[in-house]
Amino acid sequence: MLDDSKPSIDWDSLTFSFTETDRMFISKCEQGGEWEDGIMQDYQDLRISPASGVINYGQGLFEGMKARRSEDGRVLLFRPEFNARRSADGCRRLGMPPVSEEMFLDAVRKVVKENIRWLPPCGRGELYIRPLIFGSGAILGVAPAPEYTFLIYAVPVGPYFKGGMNPISLKVSDEYHRAAPGGSGGVKAIGNYAPGMMPSKNAKSEGYAEIIYLDAVNHRYIEEVGAANFFCVKDKIIYTPELTGTILPGITRMSTIELARSLGYEVQETKVDVKFAMTADEAFCAGTAAVISPIGSIEHSGEVAHYSDGGIGEITQELYTALTDIMNGRVEDKFGWTPEL
Ligand SMILES: *Cc1c(COP(=O)(O)O)cnc(C)c1O
Repeated sequence: MLDDSKPSIDWDSLTFSFTETDRMFISKCEQGGEWEDGIMQDYQDLRISPASGVINYGQGLFEGMKARRSEDGRVLLFRPEFNARRSADGCRRLGMPPVSEEMFLDAVRKVVKENIRWLPPCGRGELYIRPLIFGSGAILGVAPAPEYTFLIYAVPVGPYFKGGMNPISLKVSDEYHRAAPGGSGGVKAIGNYAPGMMPSKNAKSEGYAEIIYLDAVNHRYIEEVGAANFFCVKDKIIYTPELTGTILPGITRMSTIELARSLGYEVQETKVDVKFAMTADEAFCAGTAAVISPIGSIEHSGEVAHYSDGGIGEITQELYTALTDIMNGRVEDKFGWTPEL
């Protein structure tokens, strides 16, 4: 029986943090075989071999997407087929069996439906959907696991950065890198994230919201802002780091580029020198969790660049409004980006 009582949760104090919900999807696949149909079950702990590939060698990836409630009561996803495709690309890179787009989307819909009471009311948050694919079978040598698990759970969330749409302060790291050419930076491999925790935590203790990573070869081109993509605006031209395999191809990034171009802006996907970015008029970061978050300042080797006089840049605001209007179903979705549940 689906519990449709209201959860005892204060929607207005939601942050980007974990809340246990009701139901999750789970499916398994033997190496070389096909994915089982999978089942919905109560949210619960997993039983897993201590020798599983994911625990020992980090063979796994995640996805992140959101469902929202529109003012007129519809439940909207945002370009979920791109999460499905990105997960399949990631599976191939990590030696795991890809989940078909159809199965992925079907499972996402089931998870949202069976946790619908956790979907915040319109405008007060989102249901964050977290698909995982990982090597659950036991393996001792460094090699692909003999069995895989595809799992999806969902959590109600509020703003990713404390303070919501307030411009954030960032610090450029000269010491740490997120990814190197030929590595796994372009996929949402679970192993990419733990090495960023200590640098990010240190930056937070100094009062910054996140770290900006530079490229690992030249140490001068901006790659990403923690787990979000970087944009800056100078003389009305929008710049964002080009996808070279070390940067995660964000769906928010792609959508922001498409939207900006449709609004008549020139967008350059190129190498973005940190020195250039520090002379820009506006800067923001983009990701499912952060949506579009304005950047107020960037610190790099003792110098600080301030953007938009401490406020939200005009073009940043325009893109934020245009994107969130589509995501929340406030305007006609002429791109077809927001399939209903
Ligand atoms: C998930 C993620 C992003 C943003 O991708 P979206 O598809 O927009 O959510 C950017 N950078 C990193 C490192 C990420 O993990």
